[in-house]
Amino acid sequence: MGIEFIYPEFEVIRNEDRCTVCRACERQCANEVHSYDEELGIMKCDESKCVNCQRCVSFCPTRALKIVKTDCSLRENSNWQSSTIKEIYKQANSGGVLLSSMGNPKPFPVYWDKILINASQVTNPSIDPLREPMETRTYLGKKPQRVSRNAEGKLDCQLPPQLELSMPVMFSAMSYGSISYNAHKSLALAATELGILYNTGEGGLHEDFYCYGENTIVQVASGRFGVHEKYLNAGAAIEIKMGQGAKPGIGGHLPGAKIVGDVSRTRMIPEGSDAISPAPHHDIYSIEDLRQLVFSLKEAADYKKPVIVKVAAVHNIAAIASGIARSGADIIAIDGFRGGTGAAPTRIRDNVGIPIELALAAVDQRLRDEGIRNDVSLVVGGSIRSASDVIKAVALGADACYVGTAALLALGCHLCQSCQTGKCNWGIATQRPELVKRLNPETGKKRLVNLMTAWNHEIKELMGGMGINSIEVLRGNRLMLRGIGLTAKELEILGISHAGE
Ligand code: SF4
Ligand code: SF4
Ligand code: SF4
Repeated sequence: MGIEFIYPEFEVIRNEDRCTVCRACERQCANEVHSYDEELGIMKCDESKCVNCQRCVSFCPTRALKIVKTDCSLRENSNWQSSTIKEIYKQANSGGVLLSSMGNPKPFPVYWDKILINASQVTNPSIDPLREPMETRTYLGKKPQRVSRNAEGKLDCQLPPQLELSMPVMFSAMSYGSISYNAHKSLALAATELGILYNTGEGGLHEDFYCYGENTIVQVASGRFGVHEKYLNAGAAIEIKMGQGAKPGIGGHLPGAKIVGDVSRTRMIPEGSDAISPAPHHDIYSIEDLRQLVFSLKEAADYKKPVIVKVAAVHNIAAIASGIARSGADIIAIDGFRGGTGAAPTRIRDNVGIPIELALAAVDQRLRDEGIRNDVSLVVGGSIRSASDVIKAVALGADACYVGTAALLALGCHLCQSCQTGKCNWGIATQRPELVKRLNPETGKKRLVNLMTAWNHEIKELMGGMGINSIEVLRGNRLMLRGIGLTAKELEILGISHAGE
């Protein structure tokens, strides 16, 4: 029994006239697709191992290579598509759960692309961001409901701990172990230069990265890997991870093969042991339990750090967020079902959760209706792809966005969706030293800084077009949005009018 029923998904096309047999493709491919035939003096390939990561294509000096999706198709019909038939063959062969990585690739609606942004014309003139100051600085944390004065009549300026960001964007949680040391370092360096934050994910904080603490969010997940008092005090904020958009309702699993050296030390678990995060936190079965953990962490950090609670966007997310707001959390992070991951069961990734756009609108409205919107900040992630997605998210009610996949793309990721194999040819989702060194942290930092700087320019241009000079004014301002091609129900949930209205 083999998987010989399945024709490879991709074909390697080598132009023999251009190929100089330099063997660069062989050296660059950790999947061992290319090989040199000593006898014939030609390059050969095993296409069945190709994941279309484009590494060999990028490094071929003569542009002799291209990778194409095969047009050899199985006998499909509307009900049984090639991909479904291939999955059946794979499971019949392995008897195992199908694993994938990165975000949900299914053609569910992307609401960002069905929302249009307003611009000023004639009255309420637009603002030129090149000539006028534009404020994108963002503060996250509890805000007072109203201005108050102390006993001496002076304004009460004491706020609960806040996070200050130069723009309404942070890098999403990605653990050391799921991504490489150099990828983590790139994120830490870029966050520091940009004046934003990156997030340790659930793998602890490598001792080399404590120096970036002011720009770090330290995460506490159900496995409690790498969590200790020094860790909790090392970052600018502490995030409790209750759920993740790519795999709501289940835990995490980093195979023992990846728990080596520094990864094992940072996680505080033995080398070679599987890092399994349970699906639930075994001390949290209610909002009261969550409140205990929120305040335990605040206490551990001497009430100087805001606490974030991160959840996946699921069906009753508005009620869940309302509970979290009452648990004492300062910030709620909601992760939509298109959010990336290093490894997830395919069925969960592709079928569980809801789009972040609908979740965000529902949560913001619910917190406003209950009069507790200022008790928490809202951060959303899971498919934020551009500055216009950020603007739309802020107008729908977000205080800031988490950016994960776009940051990895900036580092060189080609979305081959094979992170779970640990053989990332771009040095990102791997712990193999020869692959890790392919990503230079200084180059990675520069590319991340460039991406975010470009987005910040675009955010300012979009704000200026609307006649808005401060991101604060845009927050929850749904009048600046119109839907296109959406049903009445979708418009109702998003709380926006249709284009033309
Ligand atoms: S990298 Fe390009 S030129 Fe070199 S062996 Fe491969 S296909 Fe040929
Ligand atoms: S897996 Fe990547 S490097 Fe290897 S052949 Fe395919 S595209 Fe090229
Ligand atoms: S991080 Fe690496 S393995 Fe994962 S999708 Fe990107 S290129 Fe592929």
